[in-house]
Amino acid sequence: MHSKFLNLTNRKDDINKMTSFRIGHGYDVHRLVEGRKFILGGVDIPYEKGLLGHSDADVLAHAISDSILGALALGDIGKLFPDTDSTFKGADSLVLLGEVCSLIREKGYEIGNIDSTVCAQAPKLFPHILSMRENIAKACQIDVSQISVKATTEESLGFTGEKLGISTTAVSLLYKI
Ligand code: ZN
Repeated sequence: MHSKFLNLTNRKDDINKMTSFRIGHGYDVHRLVEGRKFILGGVDIPYEKGLLGHSDADVLAHAISDSILGALALGDIGKLFPDTDSTFKGADSLVLLGEVCSLIREKGYEIGNIDSTVCAQAPKLFPHILSMRENIAKACQIDVSQISVKATTEESLGFTGEKLGISTTAVSLLYKI
């Protein structure tokens, strides 16, 4: 029986090829409360409530940061920028995202593309999608075509449906330079 998987040398080559691409996943949730700005993808969106958090609570920037870190098994932004550190109080999450990108570049990786989905019953996010993509592209020093932001509702179900909070998932593909 001939199979390249039985040949150890070929298998090592395959593994080396595989490590030139790395995929990461990120997930984040923030509670919606009164008296806070609603910052998403660096856009200050007018809404009766805002996201609660130690930083600016930009749930989209956080999920994307975690997906990039996850691709190289570098932990998450909670580990990198702990909320016990007063330096990060009210921090601009896009600046933190920029630092995450610098970190993976130091390790010899570049961003292929990022895809993300924000689950929010309200406010309407569609008019702000392009601005969010432009902000994230600038923070990550990538082209806007490399970052996708989608918005959906959860049909009034669960905590996002009841407008108690907003969740975001993101995936990032990195490649070795
Ligand atoms: Zn967060």
